[in-house]
Order: sequence, then structure tokens, then C-alpha cells
Amino acid sequence: MRRVLLVGGGHAHAWVIREGVAGEVTLVTPYPHHTYSGMLPGYVAGHYAAAEIRIDVAALCARAGVELVLGRVAVLDADKRIARLESGAEIAYDTASLDVGATSNAPDGALPAKPFEPFMARWEEVREGLRCVAVVGSGAAGVEMAMAIAHRTRARVVLYSDRPMFRAGLATRIARQLGRNGVELRNAAYAGESADLVVWTAGAHALPWLRASGLAVDERGFVLVDDRLRSVSHPEVLAAGDCATLRSAPHPKSGVYAVRHAPVLAANLRGEARRYAPQRRALALLSCGARYAIADWGGLSWEGAWVWRWKDRIDRRWVESFRP
Ligand SMILES: Cc1cc2nc3c(=O)[nH]c(=O)nc-3n(C[C@H](O)[C@H](O)[C@H](O)COP(=O)(O)OP(=O)(O)OC[C@H]3O[C@@H](n4cnc5c(N)ncnc54)[C@H](O)[C@@H]3O)c2cc1C
Repeated sequence: MRRVLLVGGGHAHAWVIREGVAGEVTLVTPYPHHTYSGMLPGYVAGHYAAAEIRIDVAALCARAGVELVLGRVAVLDADKRIARLESGAEIAYDTASLDVGATSNAPDGALPAKPFEPFMARWEEVREGLRCVAVVGSGAAGVEMAMAIAHRTRARVVLYSDRPMFRAGLATRIARQLGRNGVELRNAAYAGESADLVVWTAGAHALPWLRASGLAVDERGFVLVDDRLRSVSHPEVLAAGDCATLRSAPHPKSGVYAVRHAPVLAANLRGEARRYAPQRRALALLSCGARYAIADWGGLSWEGAWVWRWKDRIDRRWVESFRP
């Protein structure tokens, strides 16, 4: 029987397992659940409990007859078709699929927002005594986390953003909401200023073992894939989500795209030949501390409590679609 190895329990693999894959299927991932990033700022702000933002990957595997191995791949030898785990165990495969996301380059002493599990544990330990928090990152994650922390705590929150990431109209809305939440915006790199907690949301870096695997990678070390999400050098390896770069049309690393990869990956792992075409416009929904959000699509933006309710419905529906 074909041996299929799924590495990483991210968005796309949760979908793949729910839909079913033929063969002897093994998933290697460090945690028995997948935390949905779109709802993490809502968790930090106190709107959601941890259980509400998690997909139970272990239960999905049990239902689908997929063997779950809790651990991390440390080495992938794409020529020999073997993965070695941090535990030293080796798993041989005929087909592999990678959905391992990206990592950050947080300096010592900072708390990276990813992986989410250690972040959530540390957040619960420290959040009550915080007086000053630095949030580092120029993108949506930094903005949302800064407002969520300001909403939940009495701490002074400073957001460090060293480059403009939003177009003019949207940036104005975001700046107004940061101000309303009492977040101080510093248009500068974080240079070690003192804070009780430094939350790091900046940067999406490839896991180092991808570059060492023998798979063709882009200049940042992400796996280069064709429009069927197959490695351009080793077609028996597929990759989706943040760890993959579409050779014909690279697009931003974000959950919106990772979610869209999922049905294409699932179909191609079943042996179909489905092609992925990135959407030209992606809807961005940014939560703003309280139950209030900003929507951005195709150069237009809106905001209000109704946008938060809309986002809440979309996010809950996504997570609930994985419950039995
Ligand atoms: C705070 C925050 C908020 C965000 N909010 C949004 C948002 O609102 N909308 C949006 O579109 N994007 C958002 N993003 C970006 C989004 O999180 C990512 O783009 C998305 O999670 C990518 O999905 P993925 O499936 O590629 O990877 P991930 O969701 O990161 O999943 C990767 C999986 O691989 C596992 N893994 C990692 N290393 C290994 C290994 N060596 N071996 C085995 N398994 C491994 C991980 O544990 C995880 O289960 C946010 C990011 C952050 C940090």
C-alpha cells in the first residue's frame, strides 16, 4: 500500500485528513491540536477560550484511520524518501506532503507568537502582572496582537513597526484604532527597549531543514512548488501553506492562502490533477481589541462591530467544520 507521510498539522493537513487520503497515512506534528491563528488575537483579548480556537487533529486522525506521531521532523532526505524525527525515529514514504508553516527570528528573551502553544501558555502565566509590553511586527498579526493585549490588560503597549505594510486608507483606519486602544505606535525597529514582555510577530522564515532536504527552494528557503502544489524537483513531495512558494505566482504568506491551498492539496493527494490559482484579491479582517474589526478587500475598507461579528462567524464556522 502507498505510504503517505503528512508533516505538520496546519490548515491544509487538517482539511486533507478530514476529506480522506488513500494509503497507509501517517501525520507527524508536535501537538494533538491545531490552533487557528485568525482567532488567536480574540483569545488574547479574552473573547475566546482556548478550546474554541483549536482544531482537534488527534480526533480527526482517529476518525480517518491516520497514524498520529507527536513529534517534529528534523531531517528530510528527499532523494532517499526518508524523514528523520527529532526523536531519532525514521519514516520512509512514497508520497510526502509538507504543511509546516514558517518560523520567526525572535531574539533571545522575546516571546514569539508562533508556535502558538508555548505562546498561549506563557501569556496565561504573565498577563495579570504586565505593566509594559512591546509588540514587534509591521503586519496584521502585530497590529491585532497589540490591540488585543491593550484591551485585556492595563499595560502600556508599544507597537514597533519598521516599515509601512498597509496602503494609505487602511493605514489611517488602523492608526485610529491603535490610538483608540491606547497602543503607542513607533515607526522604528525594536532596539531592546525595556518591557515586561516582548511579543514577536515579525518575519516569516523557512524551517532550516527544508533547505537541507534536497528539495528545490526559493531564495528564502521555502519549498518551490508548481501549480499542483508538487515540489518542482521531487514531484512525489507536495507542499502547502506558508512553507510553500508557488513558482509561477508567488503570493504572501498568510492563512488566507494556506486555507485555499487545502482543497487542491487534498485532491492531488487523492491522485487528481487539480491546479491552484491564487485569488487576485484576498479579504483581510483585522480585529481591534474589543469586538470591533476592520475589513479590507480590493482597495476598499470598512470597520465596525458588524465587521467583528462577520469575522467571528467566518472563523467559528471554519473551526467548527472540523468537529465531528
Ligand atoms: C498572531 C498571528 C495572527 C495571525 N492572524 C492571521 C489572520 O487573521 N489571517 C491570516 O490569513 N493569517 C494570519 N496569520 C498568519 C497565519 O498564521 C499563517 O499564514 C498560517 O498559520 C499558515 O498556515 P500553515 O498551515 O502554512 O502553517 P501553520 O498554521 O503554522 O501550521 C504548521 C504546522 O506544522 C507544525 N510543525 C512545525 N514544524 C514542524 C516540524 N518540524 N515537524 C512537524 N510538524 C511541524 C506546527 O506545529 C503546525 O501544526 C497570523 C499569524 C500570527 C502569528
